[in-house]
Amino acid sequence: MKLWFPYSQMANKTTRFSVVKAEGVYLYLSEHKKVIDGVSSWWAAIHGYNHPALNQALQEQAANFSHVMLGGLEHQPAQELATKLVEITPSGLNHVFFSDSGSVGVEVALKMAIQFWRNQGNLAKTNFLSLRHAYHGDTFKAMEVGDDSDFQQAFGHVLQKGYFLETPAGGFHAAAAALQPDIDKLENLLQTNHHTIAAFILEPLVQCAGGFRMYSPLYLQAAKELCTKYNVLLIFDEVATGFGRTGKRFAADHAGVTPDIMILGKALTAGYLGHAATLTTTRVFEGFLGADYDKAFMHGPTFMGNALACAVALKSIELFEQEDYPEKVSRIEATLQEHLGTIRHGSIREVRVLGAIGVVEVTDAKYLEGFTDYAVQHGAWLRPFGNYVYLMPPYIIQEEELKQLILVISNWFTKFN
Ligand SMILES: *Cc1c(COP(=O)(O)O)cnc(C)c1O
Repeated sequence: MKLWFPYSQMANKTTRFSVVKAEGVYLYLSEHKKVIDGVSSWWAAIHGYNHPALNQALQEQAANFSHVMLGGLEHQPAQELATKLVEITPSGLNHVFFSDSGSVGVEVALKMAIQFWRNQGNLAKTNFLSLRHAYHGDTFKAMEVGDDSDFQQAFGHVLQKGYFLETPAGGFHAAAAALQPDIDKLENLLQTNHHTIAAFILEPLVQCAGGFRMYSPLYLQAAKELCTKYNVLLIFDEVATGFGRTGKRFAADHAGVTPDIMILGKALTAGYLGHAATLTTTRVFEGFLGADYDKAFMHGPTFMGNALACAVALKSIELFEQEDYPEKVSRIEATLQEHLGTIRHGSIREVRVLGAIGVVEVTDAKYLEGFTDYAVQHGAWLRPFGNYVYLMPPYIIQEEELKQLILVISNWFTKFN
């Protein structure tokens, strides 16, 4: 096998389905076999595949130019996308640094946090605080602030871990009282260690790759308040939650909180091209200004601000706004709540729904063995991991198609009766 696959033991024989075409919510595994994509190609393809308007935006940009370096040069697609992102993200995020993937966007955020303090002569704030079960990407510093042993156990002897707190209790609708112990722990930790902490990084509201664990917007508000009080930067990694996935444009919007730094990726380019954006407040940006060149931010991915990526991102955001995507997401949420949220079975620990995310958590991974093949046989592309089978469909999915996906999941559990 010449092609090396991700997260795969290549010694094992694994069925892999070859895609010959994709259109709308469908992946075609041959001319005659199509499956509904329930996971939007790792949560990115929010408008589905082969979208005429997105295709056109790419073609028009390619006919002009596809890419030029952002070192010493600039161009309209990058300028326009930066302006648009500042406009639609929480107020106060005024500057945009592009990179080529979510992991690198996270690296950029972490480097910014450390250098922000260093530029003030503070060399002590070099640690990070993050949450248990966090996933922030597969590069080294992103692994260090992450906490999923599957993704990083091979590097456990190398990683230098910072501080971790438990995922806030009580789910999305947690009452303030239920959340208070977690907020107290946050305050205690910051009080004791803030001198060495550069930033608190978290996936706001939903920890996706760590098991779709959901928590309350109240925690984000408390985190903002305490980070301000203890002079620690707050970083929201919205690579997975950005662009409507949780029901609002950004998860931060549920809380009305502006972090110091925010990272966007995945759905930013609607699943067409790898790209990410790290946004900052003016305070952070200004921390890099000065007469000294060595205060400048030292990072510059070759493909940052790629013109094709910027053009498709701009068109994606335009579609999102013109075609009332929040309404689409709220209909998906209602269907998920009604039909997925009500599935009960002895092997199911919990079903959670928020926005266009639905997850069934089983009590033991053995209950999901063979699920992917079963789903494909029944017309669905769903890819469980660990104890979770989840739905994160393209927002253009029709009611009937979504119900079909849900039926594949609910029928699967009847075989254990
Ligand atoms: C996927 C993901 C990343 C990493 O993005 P890549 O584009 O795969 O590098 C980072 N953070 C979160 C929350 C993610 O879901």
